[in-house]
Amino acid sequence: MPDCLFCKIVSGEVPSRKIYEDGDVLAFYDVTPQAPVHALVIPKKHIGDLNMLTDDEAGLVGHIFLVVRRLAKELNLTEGYRVVHNCGVHGGQTVAHLHFHLLGGREMLWPPG
Ligand code: 5GP
Ligand code: ZN
Repeated sequence: MPDCLFCKIVSGEVPSRKIYEDGDVLAFYDVTPQAPVHALVIPKKHIGDLNMLTDDEAGLVGHIFLVVRRLAKELNLTEGYRVVHNCGVHGGQTVAHLHFHLLGGREMLWPPG
């Protein structure tokens, strides 16, 4: 997707602080962290959001969650963490490329607001 910020991060056109990468998934630090640890885990292929996920791509999201679990361990989030997907306008999504926030390093509040 030519005008997609996260596609540009995948290609390297926009720099990021990478944490993890494999053939299908990239994880990098959020530029505006909302917690002591705030990473974004994304598929390398462009998928707009959860509503645009196809049945064939379900395994990719499973893989992303296993990457999240691995990062939580590597980043020492021993007391727990939160995983968030903001979907669409009411979900608070601002970048239209599927991504999961990994937040940790402090106790999270609920409801999130
Ligand atoms: P959303 O609001 O769509 O759920 O999350 C988008 C996230 O992307 C936000 O937390 C925002 O801080 C982050 N973000 C926006 N632009 C950039 C950028 O250029 N680099 C990085 N690393 N994160 C970004
Ligand atoms: Zn994209």
